[in-house]
Amino acid sequence: MAGDYAAATGRTIGVLGGGQLGRMMGLAGIPLGFGFRFLDPGLHACAGATGQLMQAAFDDAGAARALAGQVDVMTFDFENVPDSTARAVEEHCPLYPPPGALGACQDRLVEKSLMDELGIAVGGYHAVSGRADLLEGIARLGYPAVLKTRRFGYDGKGQAVLRDGEDLERAWQRLGDEPLILEAFIPFEAECSLIGVRGHDGETRFWPLTRNVHDDGILALSRPGGFDAGLQAAAELTMHRLMDHLDYRGVMTIEFFLREGRLLVNEVAPRVHNSGHWTIDGATCSQFENHVRAVAGLPLGATDMHGHALMFNWIGEMPDRAAALAVDGVHWHDYGKAPRPGRKIGHATVTAASREQLMARAERIARIAGGRFADLIQRLD
Ligand code: AMP
Repeated sequence: MAGDYAAATGRTIGVLGGGQLGRMMGLAGIPLGFGFRFLDPGLHACAGATGQLMQAAFDDAGAARALAGQVDVMTFDFENVPDSTARAVEEHCPLYPPPGALGACQDRLVEKSLMDELGIAVGGYHAVSGRADLLEGIARLGYPAVLKTRRFGYDGKGQAVLRDGEDLERAWQRLGDEPLILEAFIPFEAECSLIGVRGHDGETRFWPLTRNVHDDGILALSRPGGFDAGLQAAAELTMHRLMDHLDYRGVMTIEFFLREGRLLVNEVAPRVHNSGHWTIDGATCSQFENHVRAVAGLPLGATDMHGHALMFNWIGEMPDRAAALAVDGVHWHDYGKAPRPGRKIGHATVTAASREQLMARAERIARIAGGRFADLIQRLD
């Protein structure tokens, strides 16, 4: 078994989190000769298919310490790793990306303040720790605005769009017990993300900017490429600045709003990201492989994309696999998770030699998948 070979040769990577991102790290790292051990509270965490699974809570510092003692280097597949767990790991082995990056990205207010400090453009925001702050924020930013929890929000959870005083009251009732941030609503032309990697020696590589379409706050479609070189350069400069500041190592993602030709940072994830799944089938080296390479101190791989690609996210249910695989250029990824509404259970990347061929194939997949995909795909233009 890969895990035993890697243990015998001293090349084992520990991962805090055993979800699909950890699983895809495993799938990318095993051919390089690494073994994987995952820590996750779920008995059936899907990364378990690619390495040994230790079942423990994320705040179980003893378990994290034990895992760190069995591996050569550790990383994580989600950003809400408790500080105490990160410190426990570091007593035994290096943790990448560095815990400072976790601290910067776990709290939306801390993250936005860091962007200000580094001169990186973000939309207007206002810290809310009480009702008076909320009213002050609305007076400053105006309606519409978005009220979000500072921590633990993802896929549109823990947030509410405020269009008037009624929305404000309702959102305050629902979210008011937690530290919050009020953001100006950005009427963006598009959402996009940049994924990049910084290696052990400070070398950086970036994949092409990827356009993202969300449905109900959850990523539905990602299509890389098609942005002008100036925008790509601006996005890379932003990430470079952030990576240097954090002395970063590993893959990073920045989600942007595109508004009047400018990029505004929405949020930063110190990890591999759903909008980079297309890199497995559409780029020379995937985000997962490059993350493993960076963490393990190996040279980075090329991030150029070959041809055209478009990723469909499967949320809650998977379309007919046989029908989808009958379309040329379809790469299927089933995470082995039980289907549940709102849960990410797989994705498919469609690749093609030309944009026309890509869209023709994607439209066939959209018809097979049904639901809202036929409409969502129009938003990619
Ligand atoms: P988040 O969890 O912050 O990435 O938000 C999820 C989605 O909600 C984003 O991808 C946007 O589509 C939308 N959204 C979040 N914040 C804003 C904002 N300030 N203005 C407009 N749309 C937003």
